[in-house]
Amino acid sequence: MRRRKPITILHLAGSGGWAGGETYLMMLAQGLDRSRFKLVVIVPERGALADNLQAEGIETLIMDMDRLGSVAPIFRLRSLLHARRPAILQTHGARANFYGRVAGRLAGTPVIISTIHNSLYDYPVGPLRRWIYLALDRLSARLAHCILCVAESHRRELITRYRLPPEQVVTIPNGVDIKRYCPAASVRTARQGLGICHESIVIGIIGRLTPQKGHCFLLHALCDLSRDCPGLRCLVVGDGELHKDLTDLAVRLGIRDRCLFLGARDDVPTILAALDILVVPSLSEGMPYVVLEGMAMARPVVATAVNGIPEVIQDHLTGRLVPRKDPKALADAIRALLADPPAAAAMGRAARRRVEESFSAEQWIKRMETFYFDQLDDASRRASEMALRPCPCGAENVGVHVLRNRGEILECRRCGLLTRAKTPSDEDLSAFYKDSYWDLYRDEQLTPGRDNVYHHVWSWVRRCRSETGVLVDVGCGSGALLALCRAQNWKGIGFDPSVQAVQHARSRGLDANAQGWPPCPLQDESADVVTCINVLDHLRDPFGALQEAWRILRPGGLLYIRVPNGPVHARIKSAQKALGLTGFAVFHLYGFGQRALLHHLPRVGFAVLDIRTALPSLQNVYHSPGRWASPLRRALKRIGVLLYQSLDRIGLNRMPWGMSLEVMARKDFPEAR
Ligand SMILES: [Zn+2]
Repeated sequence: MRRRKPITILHLAGSGGWAGGETYLMMLAQGLDRSRFKLVVIVPERGALADNLQAEGIETLIMDMDRLGSVAPIFRLRSLLHARRPAILQTHGARANFYGRVAGRLAGTPVIISTIHNSLYDYPVGPLRRWIYLALDRLSARLAHCILCVAESHRRELITRYRLPPEQVVTIPNGVDIKRYCPAASVRTARQGLGICHESIVIGIIGRLTPQKGHCFLLHALCDLSRDCPGLRCLVVGDGELHKDLTDLAVRLGIRDRCLFLGARDDVPTILAALDILVVPSLSEGMPYVVLEGMAMARPVVATAVNGIPEVIQDHLTGRLVPRKDPKALADAIRALLADPPAAAAMGRAARRRVEESFSAEQWIKRMETFYFDQLDDASRRASEMALRPCPCGAENVGVHVLRNRGEILECRRCGLLTRAKTPSDEDLSAFYKDSYWDLYRDEQLTPGRDNVYHHVWSWVRRCRSETGVLVDVGCGSGALLALCRAQNWKGIGFDPSVQAVQHARSRGLDANAQGWPPCPLQDESADVVTCINVLDHLRDPFGALQEAWRILRPGGLLYIRVPNGPVHARIKSAQKALGLTGFAVFHLYGFGQRALLHHLPRVGFAVLDIRTALPSLQNVYHSPGRWASPLRRALKRIGVLLYQSLDRIGLNRMPWGMSLEVMARKDFPEAR
């Protein structure tokens, strides 16, 4: 389906003077169908990139990006995204990728794409800085909807090292405008323009003068070759920090007269036309344009077998591959090509065919357009999945939106209730609580590790109501609370779907019934207290359960609820997920936070008397794998209880910070409603 208005794609460039990325963005600017796509590019500073894009009619914005690790750019970018509302945000390079992921998520940008032009593991920075970059990159990687790589080797690296889901990482190899590179261009004219004798043998290297490009290995190879190849010349095209070091090295090796340092040039096709062989001795690359350009010019390319290069050059067929940092292998490969000009020419023609078949700009643009449409389709699927779910609280048309975890947990905008996006079927759920639940949590039910919680609940109930009465425990398990009731001459009635738990309670002479909740067989206004200890979030219909509790309570009767603190668990779960961990945080069918409880209890007819962070239990309900985990958790539990007790003294448990919340509510008297 064609969309009428052009789709806005906002690009965030890694730097203003970044060669490969500039080509990438310029090709998009020139190639994308402008009736369907509108490009806006943010660059961190003025420079060639901004000028060239503006000349191409592309809107260009300047935004200061600071160093990676600063937070200001995140907010700058977020407000820009809020103002522009692009459908797609595509970022380039480690720094821009990190800022884009975080700001894009904060602004709710529908599609966030991070582009990987080179491996972070090869970034030319110190080890500490690289470690920080990698940590930030890895932590934030899952915030991107898609990670776009220019080489398959980068994609494999991300899937294995970052453990990213394969469907999140896509490869679209770079393409080159083959019309710009004409293999039939006159060698004589090109060489005349550069002041080189037509009869010379000319090799060349094109790229910034940085350690990553491996110039020094080529100079050593040249020294080796110059002995048996007197007419050999080497063009060094590009500028950079190593200019002086490299000219000095050429002097030391005695090959200064063979090297032509030409500086940065924008007539790459002419330079390539002058060459017999293009050399790319880089230590690390993504999918370098210069290799594609040399091949498009039908020149044999001798390159190091790093990252994406072997995905383009097939050794001995469409070029030569050599190990990196190996001047001897480099010299041998060049020597072999110089010794057999017909074979070298055939290799050049095969290289041109390979680029025409698989790496042309037209193919690249087509793949990019399809990719953008696929990403938008995914985004609208994500949006519709979320929007179609009504909140179980009955709220209509308020919309439910993604909270975290790529749509795993949803949050109702009106009541704050958290819901799992995917829930098991009713049959699976009732079978689980009827049969399996007891087997899994038998230990918790039969050991005294949670007795502190039951005593705490019981003493709170007793403080609120002094005379004896009827207490109904929803989800009574093996009857720990019912036993406390009996000891104080209360009548305790329990309900639990687990047949074995109820059998156990009955064997202790307690009044327990094997059935779920609701419905409840008790009459209207027959109970004084209803307790729901860690059950509400397990129930398919928690609001029906509250209604039922209200029905059986006498006016003025008490409702006690203990639930995991939904928002806290959701936050921990999403942090865990980002780190690739499981366990610890729990999330059943629903997550109740303070806001959801305060919203729903009055709607059912309860007056909330008190809501607070609950006393932690002394035992962990959930089994932890590993020998170390259990003693460690026990120790943490003890610390948690001590911390709770001290914060209780100063009233800080009145805030919803803990892992569980507890509420005491009263069924309103009829006249109060
Ligand atoms: Zn709701």
